[in-house]
Amino acid sequence: MRVAVIGGGVIGVSTAYYLAEAGHEVMVVERYGNVAQEASFGNVDLMGPNSTLRQWTVPGLPYRALSMLFRQESPVAFSARFEPAMWSWIRRWISECRLQRFKENQQRLKMLADYSAQQMSQLIQTHEMDFQQHKAAMVMFRTAKDLQLARLTMQLLGESGTNHELLDQEAARQMEPALSTEVEFHSGLYLPDDQAGNSPLFVRQMKILCQNLGVEFHFNNHVQSIRNEQNKVELQIDGRSVMVDALVIAAGSETAKLMHGLGTHLPLYPVKVYSASAAVQEYEMAPKVSLFDDTYQVSITRLGKRIRIAGCAEMGSSSVNLHQKAVNTLVKVADDWFPNAANYRHANFWSGTAGMLPEGIPLLGATKHPNIFINAGHGAGAWALAAGSGKLLADIISQREPEIDMQGLTLARYDNKH
Ligand SMILES: Cc1cc2nc3c(=O)[nH]c(=O)nc-3n(C[C@H](O)[C@H](O)[C@H](O)COP(=O)(O)OP(=O)(O)OC[C@H]3O[C@@H](n4cnc5c(N)ncnc54)[C@H](O)[C@@H]3O)c2cc1C
Repeated sequence: MRVAVIGGGVIGVSTAYYLAEAGHEVMVVERYGNVAQEASFGNVDLMGPNSTLRQWTVPGLPYRALSMLFRQESPVAFSARFEPAMWSWIRRWISECRLQRFKENQQRLKMLADYSAQQMSQLIQTHEMDFQQHKAAMVMFRTAKDLQLARLTMQLLGESGTNHELLDQEAARQMEPALSTEVEFHSGLYLPDDQAGNSPLFVRQMKILCQNLGVEFHFNNHVQSIRNEQNKVELQIDGRSVMVDALVIAAGSETAKLMHGLGTHLPLYPVKVYSASAAVQEYEMAPKVSLFDDTYQVSITRLGKRIRIAGCAEMGSSSVNLHQKAVNTLVKVADDWFPNAANYRHANFWSGTAGMLPEGIPLLGATKHPNIFINAGHGAGAWALAAGSGKLLADIISQREPEIDMQGLTLARYDNKH
């Protein structure tokens, strides 16, 4: 079957790989000049199954985010554009953060994350992939109250048998000797099996694996519209018409727009997220363990000669300008934990748009159009979910039974209103 995939991000390229492996003739259509140019570029590079537990849909997080909103540094920033879609998304997000919904969502996410970790490890072994991956992460709680909010997540970690250890200040400092002696914090949650790596490098390596399997990449090609044509799908690409047998929409934050053109409304909201890359100046002072500041929702990872800092969600913005609050937040967090490792004020700052669903669980599989499929909305844990999601999609399109229960992962969760 000839299958087109819209989107050259980590999700689209992973899907293309598994489709080609299943024997399909695959083309990836990407509006930019290479893979991993949008959200997959600025990724902070956490890819272990536990990175999905840093999802935004967590009880207590809306209150904490809103209470910090008017500070100079904060996990969220708002632009002046207060649009109804944003408020509607926020309302749904707050509702999904209720305890019962959180537990249900986490169970689904964990199942997908575990499956994805298996697929990822097979990929790495089979192709001897090296994308600067390294193990271990630590979630830092600045106050006892922050730790209290994370108790639920820790309980779920325990129930699912995930290795984790709560460390007091002294033990946390032993685990990460580069932590600043000045920073005040309460405790750290050590996750020995969590992993980080260079996400754009991973996507570029996947592109080569795809090409070896015959996948065609069509860069600088922008899909304007999609039409279902009997047993075919017609794509309008920069004024040309391209017919394929099946289509996967993995267009990140643009997925909602493309699905809207097909008559399906998705609560997928484009959130601008920031990252910064700073050259390491003092290697002894640079992080060895990937660190996540729970209060500011900012991650810090060392990748070779650079330190990558990412976080701060800006809502309601479509401009490419950097929000000063986001820059302040990244610099403050990095300066607090590893002040002498780099000069963060001279870092390269970047922002990109990620498509977020209020429940934080991706949408995979069929749409109401028989030959059109979706793979989108992976949120803050996309890399950790990419391999599993790609394999599931390829199985569904190849009419093979998916290897995990798909309940809650498909469009059917919106009461078949799609
Ligand atoms: C700062 C930051 C830090 C993050 N940290 C982590 C992390 O530590 N761990 C983790 O797992 N996840 C993390 N994430 C989330 C993760 O990076 C994203 O959710 C993920 O990259 C999304 O991948 P994607 O392929 O769905 O989307 P994208 O990477 O955005 O790819 C979608 C692609 O589709 C293309 N496209 C869209 N519309 C069209 C069209 N009409 N025609 C042609 N092409 C089109 C776009 O150009 C884009 O390249 C982070 C995100 C950001 C921004």
